[in-house]
Amino acid sequence: MRLLALLLLCLALPVHAEGFISRLLHKPVPGGVAVLQLGSKASAPQVRFQGKSVLTVKEDGQQWIAIIGLPLTSQPGTAQALVDGQAVEFQIGSKHYREQRITLKNPEQVNPNPANLKRIERELAEQTAAYQQFSPRQPSNLLFDKPVAGPLSSPFGLRRFFNGEERNPHSGLDFAAKTGTPIKAPAAGKVILIGDYFFNGKTVFIDHGQGLISMFCHLSAVDVQLGQELPRGGLLGKVGSTGRATGPHLHWNVSLNDARVDPAIFIGAFTP
Ligand SMILES: [Zn+2]
Repeated sequence: MRLLALLLLCLALPVHAEGFISRLLHKPVPGGVAVLQLGSKASAPQVRFQGKSVLTVKEDGQQWIAIIGLPLTSQPGTAQALVDGQAVEFQIGSKHYREQRITLKNPEQVNPNPANLKRIERELAEQTAAYQQFSPRQPSNLLFDKPVAGPLSSPFGLRRFFNGEERNPHSGLDFAAKTGTPIKAPAAGKVILIGDYFFNGKTVFIDHGQGLISMFCHLSAVDVQLGQELPRGGLLGKVGSTGRATGPHLHWNVSLNDARVDPAIFIGAFTP
């Protein structure tokens, strides 16, 4: 079945050799990334998906590719992007995400009171606006460096139950690391939002360019200022356990065209 889906996918796309970035990033499942091959025209194609602008780069200086973030809520089947106004179809496969059950000692973090709900709503709006930014810069690198030295502890997409109650699925990737461990920018970027949030704790958003945006949460310290430009590998903060966290770790979100996708894809650690 998967072979058939793959075959159909290949038939749907123009035939030519795909580059390394395409092969590494093309994981067309809910919460994954679809890479479309767009040929070698002179100017950058304008690509939109679900009404949002999409990242396009020229791979190996030859082929334009569109790198589309697929929301976790995507339905498997045929999807459509607009390339210079023309519909281009591609296939979204399926992926099973496991469940995770977490016990929190503070019931307020499971069912917040009305005042906290208001705060959460305000904070969500602020963060959503950050994810919707689309700056023209080209990402310095699409194959990311790990932002922190430490093992992966909790994968993206887990269906989470806090004290037995289902809440939003895990929107990022967790790394286990001690409080104070330096967190480094996986690619160059601009600091577009800094916050101290109810769920996410101390948080930094970095815009890598063209809708590719990282969020780093639960920090013990923030070492950057709003508007600061960070080089690839630049120190942005330190691991902590602020916000809704059961212990020190880094929670890292990666967003493309306002869709939170599996960060493991970008560090070559994706598991189907
Ligand atoms: Zn997390």
